[in-house]
Amino acid sequence: MSSYFGTIKRGAETVLGGLKITIEHFARATKRRMPLSVQDDTYFKQPLGLVTIQYPSEAIPTPPFSRYRLHNDAADCIACDQCARACPVQCITIKSFKATPDDLEELGTTSDGSKKKLWLEQFDIDMAKCMYCGYCTYPCPTECLTMTPVYDFSEFDRSNFIYHFGVLTKAKAEEKRAKLAKYEEEEKPRKRRHLNLLWALHEHHWLPKLLLQGQNLLQQLTHHPHQLMMHQSQCPNFHR
Ligand code: SF4
Ligand code: SF4
Repeated sequence: MSSYFGTIKRGAETVLGGLKITIEHFARATKRRMPLSVQDDTYFKQPLGLVTIQYPSEAIPTPPFSRYRLHNDAADCIACDQCARACPVQCITIKSFKATPDDLEELGTTSDGSKKKLWLEQFDIDMAKCMYCGYCTYPCPTECLTMTPVYDFSEFDRSNFIYHFGVLTKAKAEEKRAKLAKYEEEEKPRKRRHLNLLWALHEHHWLPKLLLQGQNLLQQLTHHPHQLMMHQSQCPNFHR
């Protein structure tokens, strides 16, 4: 009989012990967790109370050095292709072509003063393939490719994960490509004349002689600038 009542007593104590924990937690739950950044001093000092925050109306701020969605400030992109070559999963696709000399002004410069020479027809990043390693951002010479703190960009359609940063419309790209083709066609005779001239110089051994004379003069200027005037009359190449 005593063990019977002893069991009831233990059961009641266990239930009351459990309820005590629940009631204590319920009382503490009046203090709710704040959406503080991990950089905040009190971030790890909020162990009690409600831990759920009202996402998405509330969100824990990401630190400024977070590596989430990529962004390309295409106005600063010189289409050098270095980011695409650094990407280990090939999720960056770049298509570019040369601008004609009269378009260089329209193409402009980047914010750091670098001259742009290529039209950026296509610059696509497939964020569905990206593994957020950040390798593409390091070699970027103009620092236009960055990883932003934006982490919530879910989509229903995978194709929406391909971000397009190209600066030319299809029609404009076609127009500029046609212009470049025409320019290159017009330039062909001039290039051929230059090549013929270089070939003639090479054939008659003038080019090596000219290079040798230039090298001799450069050496004299570098090592004996004060003797240059004195030795000019004795130089075997000078009067040729
Ligand atoms: S973060 Fe890494 S995987 Fe993503 S595009 Fe850049 S290099 Fe490629
Ligand atoms: S490395 Fe930078 S400048 Fe070069 S293509 Fe990529 S984003 Fe553009």
